[in-house]
Parts: sequence; C-alpha cells; structure tokens
Amino acid sequence: MTATGEEMHALVERLYPLCRSITGDGVRATLAIIGEHLPLQVHEVPTGTQVLDWTVPQEWNIRDAYVADTAGNRVVDFAASNLHVLGYSVPVSATMSLSELRPHLHTLADHPAWVPYRTSYYTPEWGFCLAQKTLDALPDGEYEVRVDSTLADGHLTYAEHVVPGQVADEVIVSCHVCHPSLANDNLAGIAVATFLAGSLAEQTPYYTYRFLFAPGTIGAITWLARNAEAVRRVKHGLVLACAGDRGQLTYKQSRQGDAEIDRVMRHVLLASERPHRMTEFTPYGYDERQFCSPGFNLGVGSLSRTPYAGYPEYHTSADNPDFVCPAAMADTLAVCQEVFAVLDRNRRYVNLRPHGEPQLGRRGLYDSLGGRSDAKQAEMAMLWVLSLSDGDHSLLDIAERSGLSFDTIAAAAGALHGSGLVQA
Ligand code: ZN
Repeated sequence: MTATGEEMHALVERLYPLCRSITGDGVRATLAIIGEHLPLQVHEVPTGTQVLDWTVPQEWNIRDAYVADTAGNRVVDFAASNLHVLGYSVPVSATMSLSELRPHLHTLADHPAWVPYRTSYYTPEWGFCLAQKTLDALPDGEYEVRVDSTLADGHLTYAEHVVPGQVADEVIVSCHVCHPSLANDNLAGIAVATFLAGSLAEQTPYYTYRFLFAPGTIGAITWLARNAEAVRRVKHGLVLACAGDRGQLTYKQSRQGDAEIDRVMRHVLLASERPHRMTEFTPYGYDERQFCSPGFNLGVGSLSRTPYAGYPEYHTSADNPDFVCPAAMADTLAVCQEVFAVLDRNRRYVNLRPHGEPQLGRRGLYDSLGGRSDAKQAEMAMLWVLSLSDGDHSLLDIAERSGLSFDTIAAAAGALHGSGLVQA
C-alpha cells in the first residue's frame, strides 16, 4: 500500500502543473496522462449541445497571462502558477492604472501569502488572482495587462473507463477533472480513482464498474444527459473528492440516506475502526448533486477526507502536492477496495431447507471448520445465514444483526451454497 501511495502521489505531482478547466486542452492533457494507466474512452461534446437544463459552453484555452510594470517585470505571471488567472478569463490586452486594475484582482486577506482559485465560467470576465502581500507591495502607476486566451466554439471533454463485471448492473465512480493546480480538490480523487480501477481490473468483479473522469457539474450533467441507458443500470455509486489530505475520512450519504452503498460504507468504516465522520446528504458539494437529483435519485455517496471548504487551504495555492500525502491516499483507496469487496458479495440467499435446522454434520460442514481458530464464529455464522436467509435479508443485514464480520458471514454463505443448502 505504501508503494501505491507513492505512485498515486507521483501522479498528483505530474498532473499538478496542467491548466485544467471545465473545457480545453488542460483536460485533454490530464486524460492523456490518466490514459497511460488505464485505457480511456474519451468523449468530445460540441459547444452548444443541450444537456438536461444546461448547454455545453464555449471551450476555453489559455497560452499566457500577466500583469507587468512599466519596466516590463511580470508582477503577476500565469507561467509561475495557473492559479494567477481567473478561470475562463476572456482575452484582454491593455494598459491601466492600479486603481483601474484593482476590481479585477482577487486576493485572500486572511492568508496573505496564498493565491486564491477563482473562476467565472458563465459571466464573461477577466481577472487575476494573487497573494495579498504581492498586491500590497505594488506601487501606484501604470500596468500592462494581458490575457492571451481563446473562448470559442469547441468541445467539452470527458472520459470513461469500464471494468466489466459478471453482471450488467453498474457501480459508477466519478471524480472531477476541472480544477487547475489544486492537489486535494481534484488530483487526489483522480489518482485514487485511477488506481482503484486498476486494482478492480485484476479480478472479474460482480458488478460492472464505470469510472467517470469529467469536469464538475457540467461534465456529470453531460454524462447523465447522454447515457439514459447506462444510468438505468447504475445501482450504486461513489464520488471521490478531497481524497488525499491528512484529515479523517468523511462519507456523505446519498440523498436516499439508506442506500446500499451508505450501509456498506457505514459497516466498513465502523468495522475497520478508522476515525471517520458520516454526514447526511446536502444538495451541494460535488457531482453527487447531479446523480442524486430527484429525477435520477441514484444511490451515490461521496467519500472525502476533509470535505470541500472544510480546510483553509481549500481553493488556494496552499492546496499543493505537499498538502496531500501518500499514506492518506493509500488509506482512501483501501477503504474503497474494502467497500466494493463487500458490495460485490452482498446478496440475498434463500434457505432451501427452512423447516427446522438442516443437519450440518451430515454434510461435512462442521468438519470444514476443524482446526479453525474462529470455528465457533464460523458455526454461528452458518446458523445466522440459515436463519435469516428468507430472501429478505442480505448478507450485510445478517452481519449487522449477528454482530459477526461481513467476511465471516460471506464465507458461511459460500460454504452453505456449496452444500446446496442456500441459493442466491
Ligand atoms: Zn473545488
């Protein structure tokens, strides 16, 4: 896990400098790098396409942006950090006084050394983001202002990766790919999703797992609009965001609140004794907003460490690769793997000999426990599975009611199934 944590962190560092936005070449370059780890199906959706209640916007690309003093020194420079330019800035080339420039400058008074992250996707605007202390040091006078960007008809880009399962029913895992140089708030989730997909592909899972790498909000809306057929197959889902900071895990439940993914997550987090928080659904945050909207109402929760806006570094230059740590990303990945391992085996069985207890000894089921240190638990697990397998109770229900671990219950169900005593 340590090595995987380091690999995920290396991916974060590699993706960090790219200037991502909701459209444009930064997203394409990001998907190309993810594509070195996973085969991706990349989709390009033209500007102007109607997607649910939205329209795919014009594509934004940027080559350079700066504020320079009269001597030509760049006092704010996109080349130093892509956070310095307001995302989706329209082009500008002008000379103006500091007082004329000020309304276009964004700073963080509370953290004078940090550069904020700001965007203006749907209102045509230009601007720069800089440290308060940089602004405070600027003398009055004339400044050259230039944003060399293009806002034009083009495409919205997103990608999918599908791990085929034994059944067509799907689990969707999504993460946003629209933030520029921000490590926890998008890159850590991207890295965990990438390595999660890789680990699932090493087996043939029960469910088909669909990974979605898309810009926030408009990307998820575009996917939902174009995939009515696939949406119907989605049985469970997880949105990954803020997946790599040193804080404890936070799981935000689906809008349903008692969806299977919510129950599995609760079971895994409690059983593993990891410090964590469970929070109720709110119609804010990441793409769970779209997946859980009432017309879809999917069982999709959101897994983070410290959730969005819950840490001072959120949406600032301090959310850099040092802010995320390999061990935290490895832990987030491990939780996802544990959750999907339970979800994948959580089925309802029917006891085929429900009148009285079937004779386990005659079928060699006691012998199979011989020598096991947990023989008593395994025997109890068989009795619980037989008792509650009436078609209404899932293995997770049985684990929770019995107080036994899911693995013990699933193993018992496997043994009983092998003896023909239960069927799925
Ligand atoms: Zn964000």
